[in-house]
Amino acid sequence: MFILSGIPVSSGISIGRAFILAHALSEIESYKIEDSKISSEVKRFKKALENQKKELAALKKQLSKNNMKEYSSFVDIHLSILNDPKISKDPINIIEQNKINAEWSIKMQMDEIIKKFNKINNSYIRERKNDVYQVCENLIKFLVGQHTSKLNNKGQVIVAHDISPSDTLKFKNSNFLAFITEIGGTTSHTAILSKSLNIPSVVGTQNAKKLIKQNDLLIVDGDNGHIIINPTKLVINHYKYKKSLNDIESQKLLSLQKVKSKTIDKTDINLFVNIEDTNNLKPVLENETHGVGLFRTEFIFMDKHRMLDENEQFLIYKKLARSLPNKIITIRTLDSGGDKVIEHMPHTNQNPALGLRAIRFCLAEPQVFIIQIKALLRAADYGNIRILIPMLSSYNELKQVNLLIQRAKDLLKSERKRFKPNTPIGGMIEVPAAAVDIDSFAKELDFLSIGTNDLIQYTLAVDRTDDAVSHLYDSSHPAILKLIKGVIDSGTKAGIEVSLCGEMAGDPKLTKLLIGLGLRNFSMHPSSILKVKKMIINSDTRTLSNKVKKIIKTNNRDQIDNLINKLNT
Ligand code: PEP
Ligand code: MG
Repeated sequence: MFILSGIPVSSGISIGRAFILAHALSEIESYKIEDSKISSEVKRFKKALENQKKELAALKKQLSKNNMKEYSSFVDIHLSILNDPKISKDPINIIEQNKINAEWSIKMQMDEIIKKFNKINNSYIRERKNDVYQVCENLIKFLVGQHTSKLNNKGQVIVAHDISPSDTLKFKNSNFLAFITEIGGTTSHTAILSKSLNIPSVVGTQNAKKLIKQNDLLIVDGDNGHIIINPTKLVINHYKYKKSLNDIESQKLLSLQKVKSKTIDKTDINLFVNIEDTNNLKPVLENETHGVGLFRTEFIFMDKHRMLDENEQFLIYKKLARSLPNKIITIRTLDSGGDKVIEHMPHTNQNPALGLRAIRFCLAEPQVFIIQIKALLRAADYGNIRILIPMLSSYNELKQVNLLIQRAKDLLKSERKRFKPNTPIGGMIEVPAAAVDIDSFAKELDFLSIGTNDLIQYTLAVDRTDDAVSHLYDSSHPAILKLIKGVIDSGTKAGIEVSLCGEMAGDPKLTKLLIGLGLRNFSMHPSSILKVKKMIINSDTRTLSNKVKKIIKTNNRDQIDNLINKLNT
């Protein structure tokens, strides 16, 4: 038995067998095949090819059964790539001539094809290389035995070097018990999505893949970030007991579902939910929430192989509006880039967090933005939708956003489509420049939402996805507290709503601090709602405000922690 430690990102305890996940394309190995084994290597390749064809054919059938025929054309593209001799025949020649393994022959062929695509001037055709990449990746995954269908076994814990946000989405339909990655930070999007899977997860467990063997028995403690490898019976029993205590605590919290979110002195604190898809809206309805404080729309594009058109997006947003008739629904426009790579959209590879991300991407590709705004304005006619713009960094940018929104409205008018012209427009305050120049934004916008995940990353110059600097990622840093206070004060002065939708909002240890800073609107992952509500009903704004003033004046970091602990006792 031995223990590994990492960064806990999704709470809970799970006990299960390790399933080591290879990162198909970066970790595959090239090895020589003996002459006598060449024909069986070719057979392996052909089997992978046939399997992929069968899977795609089944997917196509499924899509037409579910009335999603519009996606079939993408399945057809993948099928035609699989049938192209460059993919179906050339790797066989490479296996035979170079006497190498099937995985490597596919990779060689893929690199060659992608090199050619990169030379093409037409950007639409050039981006088709992503389809080639995906087809080859799936073939390789099948060959190395990591096909997603194998992940449906109950009782498995995924051990991976890293998991992309889009892979995390794919795991939504699997039954595995927990996941561990070797790299990653607390507020990376992989970590945020892992919470939606409702399973414990720990990231930044350096060398986990070297130290853990396939099928090892693991205890994953998502509360403390510990992984216990091949535990003794005594330790297993201890964790089973801890798990049952956790279950009792969660059961007790359920009694708060119908309790109003009010402080002792009867101040309303509005709770909102962050969502990444529209499939599970139960937490919004069950916990006396005000609605959705952040719908991260980029995730609806992530597992598709193209942009969704205006009508497709309209139907998604309209359905959401209809499902939540008496709730506020805050829908954020596309925030691709950074650690959220959407394969079919252009993205910056160097310093992606500082590159063409979120509204910067949308202003560079106005047709993408206008389509989304049109869809949102139309859907807003069916419910209480408001639009949230991510990553604003200058007033000038906001002016450009407003022009494009006006353009979307003019187009809708000329197309004689129904829409809600006065749909509220809000801005995410997550770049320090916007937080400092907040008065300019507050007077132009209908509401503000503080995105602390990025605000902390950009203010402290700490990559939110990098475990090597995660000890410097500090939500209670005096600079962060001052920026949050400045945004709340400015919004309050301008008479507009200020909410906070970063992970800080869902940390019950910080609830009283944020209330003391003047925050009255919290938006968080559904799993945090009741824990935060429990803190709210034990808070008193009359005393918190003065206590927090003292914290804000302190620059001694340890003293800040002591004072926050005192607030919570
Ligand atoms: C944030 O930055 O705090 C936020 C809520 O947005 P995201 O985590 O999607 O970047
Ligand atoms: Mg953000």
